Amino acid sequence: MRVAVLTGGVGGARFLRGIVDTVDPASVTAIVNVGDDLEVLGLSVSPDLDSVLYELAGIADEERGWGRADETWNALATVETLGGESWFRLGDRDLGLHAVRTQALREGVPLSAVTAKLAAALRVETTILPATDEQLRTWLDTPNGSFPFQKWFVARAHRCEGATEARPAPGVLEALHEAELILIAPSNPFVSIGPILAVERIRSALQRRRVPCVAVSPLIGGLAVKGPAAGMLQRLQGGTTAAHVASCYPGLIDALVMDEEDAADADAVSSAGVRPIVTHTLMRDAAARRRLAEAALDAVAFA
Ligand code: GDP
Ligand code: CA
Repeated sequence: MRVAVLTGGVGGARFLRGIVDTVDPASVTAIVNVGDDLEVLGLSVSPDLDSVLYELAGIADEERGWGRADETWNALATVETLGGESWFRLGDRDLGLHAVRTQALREGVPLSAVTAKLAAALRVETTILPATDEQLRTWLDTPNGSFPFQKWFVARAHRCEGATEARPAPGVLEALHEAELILIAPSNPFVSIGPILAVERIRSALQRRRVPCVAVSPLIGGLAVKGPAAGMLQRLQGGTTAAHVASCYPGLIDALVMDEEDAADADAVSSAGVRPIVTHTLMRDAAARRRLAEAALDAVAFA
């Protein structure tokens, strides 16, 4: 079964890992947020692409929850000593990847092609695509001014710069058209999935889909497992129930996988025309990840 998955970084990568452990990894395409991409120390960093790459290559640090396993921090320590830019945590192994990517981008290689090369070198069979090869940045507007996403995480409002004009990266629309199932990972709806859907032609491909689209809620008991998703839902959608999560994807999803702790919200989700799939959604270990993947993949059988 061909599956396309819209995903952000850490939460999405964990979910993807469950998916590729359940179906043929080569039949899966990840369409990844690039709204958080940034330059650090002159290097092009794509945090969400890298979280997905590291997780699918089996070299992610499971305990820390981001970056590479067996990481060391010598370069960053030197940067600190020398008074350089050290607010963004870059490990030595991670830096090596950024150096290779940055050189390729400077030579004019598109991000999608660079990512394909990195994935091949790391023996990842799943296709990993940036949502777009063009600049698309999430900015956060606050009472104290506007900040790029990584510099100001929790804010009042956010917007995507460059989104409506950005074209999907090569392969993205094809993956959505060929998919028998489209999944939206339990990533942050605003700052991870939002920038992907802000690419006009990706959103319209989803609106015109002929196959089921299933989202997984990033909230458990109305709270984010990690990060600002609950606060943003409260502020931007007016609440933190599963129905509020579903309302982030109007006309775009047919079913929502939601946690047992939120079972009381199932009727409200149904009333919004979205089929609730209630299950355990905490991806504590490999078995839990696979169970969640199966719950989402099963949606095809009910379509
Ligand atoms: P980021 O780009 O690295 O911030 O990661 P994502 O946007 O892909 O994922 C962040 C979201 O994943 C948060 O809103 C978390 O609540 C959610 N998340 C993380 N782990 C889990 C989990 O085990 N289960 C569920 N349902 N959501 C999770
Ligand atoms: Ca991210």
